[in-house]
Order: sequence, then C-alpha cells, then structure tokens
Amino acid sequence: MIVILKPGVSLKAMGELVKFIESQGLKVGRIVRGEERTVIGLIGEDRHVPIDRIRAFEGVEDVVPVLKPFKLVNRELQKEDTVVRGEGFRFGGGSFTVIAGPCAVESADQIMEIARFLRDQGVDVLRGGAFKPRTSPYSFQGMETEGLELLARAREETGLAIITEVVSAEDVPVVAEVADILQVGARNMQNFRLLQHVGRTDRPVFLKRGQSATLEEFLLAAEYVVAEGNPNVILCERGIRTFERYTRNTLDIAAVPLLKQLSHLPVVVDPCHATGRRDLVPPLAVAALAAGADGLMVEVHPDPENALSDGPQSLTFEMFARMNEDLERVRSALRPHAAVV
Ligand code: PEP
Ligand code: MN
Repeated sequence: MIVILKPGVSLKAMGELVKFIESQGLKVGRIVRGEERTVIGLIGEDRHVPIDRIRAFEGVEDVVPVLKPFKLVNRELQKEDTVVRGEGFRFGGGSFTVIAGPCAVESADQIMEIARFLRDQGVDVLRGGAFKPRTSPYSFQGMETEGLELLARAREETGLAIITEVVSAEDVPVVAEVADILQVGARNMQNFRLLQHVGRTDRPVFLKRGQSATLEEFLLAAEYVVAEGNPNVILCERGIRTFERYTRNTLDIAAVPLLKQLSHLPVVVDPCHATGRRDLVPPLAVAALAAGADGLMVEVHPDPENALSDGPQSLTFEMFARMNEDLERVRSALRPHAAVV
C-alpha cells in the first residue's frame, strides 16, 4: 500500500506515522519525494492494517492499496521515471544509452581494441563478461578475476563505464569493486539470494529477464533488489523462449512499453541474445528505440568468427558503426529534446 502525504508535512508527524505503521508489522520500503507529493511505499502483509487509522494521521492525504504484487518498482508508487546515473552514464528520463562490448573478455588486446573503438563511437558503457554463465560446463567460462582486471584497465584508458555479470552471491564484493554496473543474467533472474546481495551494494543493477519469465516475475525479481535498499535497477528485455527456431529466443518488443507502464524503472533491450543472429540486431535495435526503450545492449567483436562465445550474434565494427548512425538519425527524429549524459 502507498501513503500519500500532504505537501509540507512536518518531520514529527512523519515520525509518528512511521512508528504506527511499524507497530502494524509493516515496513517503510521507500520514501519517494516527487515534485508535487511525497509518497511512502509500505511493504509487508497489509490485509489487516487499519487503513482508516492511517488516513486519520496528521499530514496524510490518502492511502492507496497497491493490488499488484510488485510494490516498490510499481509506477503507482512513483510517477516519474527512475533515472539511474553513474560516472559518465545515465539510463531513463528520455535519454538513449548504448552499452556495447564483447560477450566475454578474452585477452588484453581484444578488450582494449574494442574499448577504443567504442569510445570513438561515442558509446558510454563497455560490457564484457569475466564470469560467464555457460549452458555447457565444457564451454569457456570466462577469465574471471583476470578479466575484471582487464576491464578496470580498459576503463582507465578510455573512461568508459564498465558493466559485467556477477553469477554468484559470493562473487558480489569482488565484481562490485570493478564494475560500475552489476549485471544479473537471465539464468539468475530468480536467484533470490544473489538479488538480495546485489541489492545491498551501492552499484546500479542491470537485471536481465529470465528466458521463461513473465513480466510479473521479472518485476518481482527487481522488487527483491529494491526491497534491500538499492533503487537503481535497470530492466533488460533479452528475448524469451518460444516455439520459434529461426531465432535463439523471441524478442518481446511489447515488453518495452508495457514495462514502462507498469514500472518507473528504465528498460534496455538486448537484441543479440534475443535473436542469436547479427543480421537481425540492427533492425531490432532501431525497433527498441522506437518502442521507447531507454537504451540498448549489444555484443561487438573485431573477429566474430573466432569469438570464444556468442560470435554468431556479435556485430562487426563496421556493422556497429552503421547501426550507430541509424540510431542517431532515429533518435534525433523521435526524441529531439532528449538529454545527453
Ligand atoms: C550476456 O549478456 O552475456 C548473457 C549471458 O546474457 P543473458 O543472461 O541474457 O543470456
Ligand atoms: Mn553473450
């Protein structure tokens, strides 16, 4: 349930209200100070809470039940878009932010060559897996901590922000030391312990939709992170499993406007993992922008044929540059006033 406060409510009145709320077994999940109103999002079992008594508190304008199971990420709690910011990047609030890089960090030369190219292309965030969640235990598992060190060096030289995946709760501290943004992959979307751990860091969390997750399950996974006190979650639609076999997954483009209706969190699209085919990536990237996405994640490799993972869906430098030009043309037509970082 959410409690809407009158403008200018005193701290003392708020303190008394919070004390009463907690005596009812509820917790204050988040306080959102908007331009026109302050809203308190409550979490916990609220079926037997005396709503009329909360309404009677000084400074309370209204109490509204939130019927959907996700509360803190719900657009009903916060009308304005969440803008996730960090050194050199922002997601949400009208901008379109591109994350690009290899599926996996493979060597110092590989990641540096890609990072320099992407910096020259105006990209803000460099991706690269150091810990890789692979379907087969015999596939390349990533360079692990050595990969993290190479990402840190790439940031030092190029100034690009770094996003990389964390696959287990115990790795969170070591990954958070290097990563500007922590990625939780599709296979771990419902690893609730991991979600809680990244929710206790001060790093933005990039949460990828599980291959078979409904949007409600996806938003409840985001809720786990925010409920731990970390409001900076970026949602990523990366395709879901369907009967179609020409593509690796099926990009659920409707998820973009739908997630933005249901939630205030930014939404990014990953057309590479959605399709598994580089020829389909540029048109779907443009579709994502047109559908209202806040950004894009794509895989880029100087020699995709010899990539250690996800070569078939990785863009060549030439394809990336062409796609980037198309995106810029569409962006300036559709969002001429969008803020740049
Ligand atoms: C990735 O981004 O490299 C990745 C493994 O993606 P997903 O979790 O969406 O499969
Ligand atoms: Mn990949």
